[in-house]
Amino acid sequence: MTLSGAWSRTARGAMLLGDDGRLQQTIFGEMSALAVATGSINLGQGFPDEDGPAEVLEAARQAIRDGVNQYPPGNGMPVLRNAITAHQRRFYNLDVDPDLEVLVTAGATEALAATILALTDEGDEVVTLEPFYDSYAAMLGLNKVIHRTVALRAPDFQPDLDDLRAAVTDRTRLILINNPHNPTGAVLPVETLQLIVALAHEHDAIVVTDEVYEHLTFDAPHVPVATLAGARERTVTISSAGKTFNTTGWKIGWITAPTELLQAILAVKQYLTFANGAPFQPAIAVGLALPDTFFHNVAADLRGKRDVLSAGLTAAGFGVSAPQGGYFIVADAAPLGFHDAAAFCRQLPQLAGVVGVPLSAFVRPQNRAEYGSLLRFAFCKRKDVLERASAQLADLRR
Ligand code: PMP
Ligand code: GLN
Repeated sequence: MTLSGAWSRTARGAMLLGDDGRLQQTIFGEMSALAVATGSINLGQGFPDEDGPAEVLEAARQAIRDGVNQYPPGNGMPVLRNAITAHQRRFYNLDVDPDLEVLVTAGATEALAATILALTDEGDEVVTLEPFYDSYAAMLGLNKVIHRTVALRAPDFQPDLDDLRAAVTDRTRLILINNPHNPTGAVLPVETLQLIVALAHEHDAIVVTDEVYEHLTFDAPHVPVATLAGARERTVTISSAGKTFNTTGWKIGWITAPTELLQAILAVKQYLTFANGAPFQPAIAVGLALPDTFFHNVAADLRGKRDVLSAGLTAAGFGVSAPQGGYFIVADAAPLGFHDAAAFCRQLPQLAGVVGVPLSAFVRPQNRAEYGSLLRFAFCKRKDVLERASAQLADLRR
């Protein structure tokens, strides 16, 4: 599907463009529609199929009853900004000023868009890991920014440090990373994060770090870039309530950053949405203040789901990655005789009643061949759903 002519614009980001040069529907929209149309199990788009904490849901209902239904302040309601500040101190020992260094956004998606629009100009360079979350290339393309990438290769999907050193130059405006990583499930080691900070200093770049899966790590607690020596003053940190509290549809995200960077981003954000989600903001404040056991259990539960899907995919004959965080596992369909994951994903509803997403959707066209037989499955689903999907996928070998 392409959007109508009146809505399309030509942008440099090749990721965005169909053969007719127009913005395309995202892979998530396409694959979720395919799941609905075919009645398949949707392991494509990353959203949970169970509600999050009852206290959080009830707080939103209460806020609606209390009349919290008009525009909140443009930078976010004080109750949520204070809760974000308390969360940063409690989990990471970071002190952020709730009035000057915190900005509530319409999900991490708006945070990314406003950050890129505010901090880059046409012709600047931005370095990302590749594969990358799809909106990065879209926004860089719309802002006519030059997109440089550092490859993450199977099986561990860690960047080569020399590749990183080579990619960041004096032309680099932003180093935009995602940790834990979508789609690969990789968690970057502290040494890699330290190198990124050192390169940002050396080349006077800003680190933008998308940490939406901060509470969903399976082996070790998350390390925010902003906690590293020398990082804070040049780091923009992006997060989202959707992943932690199973509220992806509420679209409550936030940014913490030094005030100078934050005010530049706020200036743009005003004209994107101005503000959003009034009754959800106090509800997410309740979520951020939940006891440590809640956060521990979220990660432990998801780890168990990862293990179910990993075992199921292995039994079905796929090669599988070992995600250390996030919602997703990478499967290699080559051992089953399928070498084009994009074609395979379009056949999969018919073959097995399951939907996945090809890794090529997270990669620039010139690099797609390298990821040809790889696809991403989401494991943020009920265990019985993952077991059913595994059983259906096991039929592929028969
Ligand atoms: N960044 C990454 C890495 C993501 O995986 C997602 C959503 N899955 C987003 C940003 C967007 O988050 P939100 O839904 O809060 O806009
Ligand atoms: N971030 C989710 C994923 O990676 C999807 C979000 C969207 O649909 N844009 O699957």
